[in-house]
Amino acid sequence: MPEPPEIAYENATPQQLLERLDILRERFRMGVMSVADFNTAIRAFQFKDDIGHLWAPGATSDQWYRWDLDQWTPAEPPRTLLVSQSPVLFTDFEQATRPRATGPAVIHCGKCGTPNSGNKFCTKCGNRLR
Ligand SMILES: [Zn+2]
Repeated sequence: MPEPPEIAYENATPQQLLERLDILRERFRMGVMSVADFNTAIRAFQFKDDIGHLWAPGATSDQWYRWDLDQWTPAEPPRTLLVSQSPVLFTDFEQATRPRATGPAVIHCGKCGTPNSGNKFCTKCGNRLR
């Protein structure tokens, strides 16, 4: 039985994390991901090692940086990094970066302006939507 994906990310190698980051970079390049989403994702790419140092990859390079109290220092990361928050974060990335074309379009009611999604009639005033 395959393990749930979140288990695999509790203790990840720097290389695995860079691969994950590459997916985000690619989506950003393709325009699937907005600048704001990408920046949010990059900010979440911070991981602790087992002695409590904080590590983060560069946004556009594969260089790792260690947080030294007041600055990021380029350094060689440890073999594994703890990514305890990542199951939630990675799920957020997936949702933030998934193309939204599959969902019903939002239609603003012509009468009261309420946004409606997948309805025939406005949920607020009952006006027929076109
Ligand atoms: Zn309405």
